[in-house]
Amino acid sequence: MRLAWGPDVDAFRAELVEFLEEHAPPEAKALKNFGSLSDSGDHDGESIIPDWARRWQAMLFDHGWMIPGYPRHLGGRDATPVQTLVYLQEMSARGVPRSVHFPGYAIVAPSLLEFGDDSQRQLAPAAIRGDDVWCIGMSEPNAGSDLAGLQTRAVLDGDTFVVNGQKVWTSYAMVAERCFCYVRTDPAAPRHQGISVLIIDMDTPGIEVRPLRQFSGAAHFAEVFFTDVVVPATNLVGEVNDGWRITMGSLAHERGGLWVQSVSLLESTLDDLVSLCRRRGLTTDAGVKRRLAEAYEQVSSLRALGYKGFTSFARTSSAPEHSYLKLATSELGKSLYELGMELLGPDGVVVDAERGEEGGRWVRGYFMSFANTIAGGSSEIQRNIIAQRVLGLPRS
Ligand SMILES: Cc1cc2nc3c(=O)[nH]c(=O)nc-3n(C[C@H](O)[C@H](O)[C@H](O)COP(=O)(O)OP(=O)(O)OC[C@H]3O[C@@H](n4cnc5c(N)ncnc54)[C@H](O)[C@@H]3O)c2cc1C
Repeated sequence: MRLAWGPDVDAFRAELVEFLEEHAPPEAKALKNFGSLSDSGDHDGESIIPDWARRWQAMLFDHGWMIPGYPRHLGGRDATPVQTLVYLQEMSARGVPRSVHFPGYAIVAPSLLEFGDDSQRQLAPAAIRGDDVWCIGMSEPNAGSDLAGLQTRAVLDGDTFVVNGQKVWTSYAMVAERCFCYVRTDPAAPRHQGISVLIIDMDTPGIEVRPLRQFSGAAHFAEVFFTDVVVPATNLVGEVNDGWRITMGSLAHERGGLWVQSVSLLESTLDDLVSLCRRRGLTTDAGVKRRLAEAYEQVSSLRALGYKGFTSFARTSSAPEHSYLKLATSELGKSLYELGMELLGPDGVVVDAERGEEGGRWVRGYFMSFANTIAGGSSEIQRNIIAQRVLGLPRS
């Protein structure tokens, strides 16, 4: 058995590392919470998408490093799945996010490419390059985990839709140019069958965005109210009443490798915990040592499981391991930050960037670690999915 990556992958890695060493902005390297909402901007009046992050995303796109698996005109270089895995590994091991706003490049662009018409597909490059900021209008006050319960209504009137309703937890709504919005177009149809997706320009009259300030002090998401918002019928993505397929649809080329980011982030958080213990003289405490060793064991098991899932994904485009990895990495992230807060004692709660340990990183990461167990499907919902779809257990 030969456990090595092979020359093409080694060359790919070397080129990437050289690029990152030369170009990665210091602000990106300083972001500890990889690509997350918690640490970008919104401190001291900085925009939630700072200028350096916009320039960095555009540079990655222009050099074919934004989504390596895509072709050149979409910010990639036709990388193989294994090369993409290496890319995600290197980026996350360095704590360098490629973007601080995920909806455009990670969700909207792949969906437009898969389900959009010709003119909608042309919106994809700017979404990936970050020139256009998108938000995703899925969740509503009565439709979160139960997304099929969404009630924002779109009524076709000639060649326009008229939209009324409310979204909530809409990340980046206050800076977005467009919303990828899930609306109910047939209230009489069974719940999953009456949903459509509209592209809505955020400056359309009738849209009100009310930012929601988080526990951490930042405001990265908002409530969005739609009152008689007129949207051209040509902004419908895919077929009318076929929106559920899009919700279930494309997270595209990288779904098979996304776990790497989460596992690498856990590894670097664990390294930082060890450094914290060294600085604070806690490395001789048997209880602390045991907890760090347990965490190390868990992160290593998740990496091994991720590789196994990656192999099945590359072969069959599906991997039950991935359902478990979302649940396990977000829950383990929470317990690592909990441990960090415990080790810091009273110092842990100091959020102040100048006085807090590592710029208040532990307390902000601690708050954010809870959000990670909710965003993209809560841990309870992941457990339901594993029980029903992976283990084949009855619903109740
Ligand atoms: C950081 C972050 C960013 C987000 N960004 C966006 C965005 O850009 N656009 C957008 O549309 N939404 C966004 N969301 C919203 C997110 O999708 C929802 O919060 C999530 O789907 C949960 O929905 P909810 O908040 O309504 O909670 P609910 O669905 O009301 O759930 C409340 C609790 O009940 C549990 N629960 C619900 N149903 C079940 C069940 N069947 N079995 C067991 N337990 C259950 C849940 O796990 C949870 O603990 C974001 C959320 C976060 C945290």
